[in-house]
Amino acid sequence: MRHIAMPANDFALYGAAPRFEKPIPVGQLYFPSFEKYERSMQGIFERQYFNNNGPLLIELERQLREFFHVRHVICVSNATLGLMMLADALQLRGKVITPSFTFIASAQSISQAGLTPVFCDVNIENHHIDIPSLERVIDKDVCAIMGVNLWGGTCDPTAIEQFALQHGLEVYFDSAQALGCRVENKPVGGFGRAEVFSFHATKILTSAEGGCICTNDDEIADRLCGTRPSYGVTTIQPVRRVANARMSEAQAAVALLSLEDFPSNLQNNKSIFEAYQNGLQNIPGLSMLSPVNVSHSNHQYVVCRIDSEIFGLSRDMLVDILRAENILARRYFYPGAHKSTPYFNKSYGTLNNTEILCDTCFQLPIGALISTDSAKRIADLIHDIHRSSSELRAKHKVSQ
Ligand SMILES: *Cc1c(COP(=O)(O)O)cnc(C)c1O
Repeated sequence: MRHIAMPANDFALYGAAPRFEKPIPVGQLYFPSFEKYERSMQGIFERQYFNNNGPLLIELERQLREFFHVRHVICVSNATLGLMMLADALQLRGKVITPSFTFIASAQSISQAGLTPVFCDVNIENHHIDIPSLERVIDKDVCAIMGVNLWGGTCDPTAIEQFALQHGLEVYFDSAQALGCRVENKPVGGFGRAEVFSFHATKILTSAEGGCICTNDDEIADRLCGTRPSYGVTTIQPVRRVANARMSEAQAAVALLSLEDFPSNLQNNKSIFEAYQNGLQNIPGLSMLSPVNVSHSNHQYVVCRIDSEIFGLSRDMLVDILRAENILARRYFYPGAHKSTPYFNKSYGTLNNTEILCDTCFQLPIGALISTDSAKRIADLIHDIHRSSSELRAKHKVSQ
């Protein structure tokens, strides 16, 4: 870290060698040990059984029920399909309220299930559902709220459940990012009617591709098993359609090993998160989000916000500069679900906070591919960028 401004040419965007040798994606990308994976695959080949409630899937679902403290865990081929299946299993009709500040597939799962998403705003400080904004968008056609838990924090599940109870609405959660988080020590997974998790490679627990649905409701669980479809139901329930969203034995093998590694991966995330917290202090115009509403976070993402007037550069310029240095910072969620296909040409009420966050947030790498030392070096780099912001701004103007 320098204490004086550096010329723009000292940054990779303007010709210098990148500070980081290899591109570092935002995360999580934890891989289990190859030896253990080989042994699991060997078992699959010996049993000659690829999918349909195989022994590894049955064991995974048993372990996950314990992990989440819930009666039922139904593993599926990814979280988006899980959300679609769940909307079907809840037998919803009409409109579902959800924040626009989310991954586009989570909003689209509502449309894919034949329902209409209604976008509510989020709280500017904590990025999660703003309860007063639910009041603004509710009407007689709304049948449910899909809460979204982001970054390693959560929305306020109790407040949302209370609101839903008052208005006779169903509640379920897109908890794709929230595996391992706890609210007042209660594991995320047991809130609302059901919660959906992602085991995508970028999430803290992975099956390479996959996800699961948690519920304490026996009937919903049987409908979900019928939709997946596969064996494992205790009562046959009529379902709207099948989804062919099974989890294979190969995916279950990766997930079981990933679950075994979860405590150490979480510890690693914690250390990296703390290194960022220390390193990113006292940068004018930059704030790093601390996990909200949780007693335990999984530190799924490192999220920062830029006040471009004070920092000296726009969020987009900072992201471009970082990416040139091989730090593959992301702009989640840009431009916001309400401005994406297929929703952009419809009008929604005021989503002021969502708009602001979509324009000012970015994510930094955390997970398997970085160390506390590289987190510190990334923080130093951002200090340098801030100190050199007028040089970088001038260069940017010339190159436009
Ligand atoms: C990752 C993610 C999803 C989608 O998960 P897939 O398993 O890739 O379908 C949905 N919602 C949110 C908030 C996510 O972060």
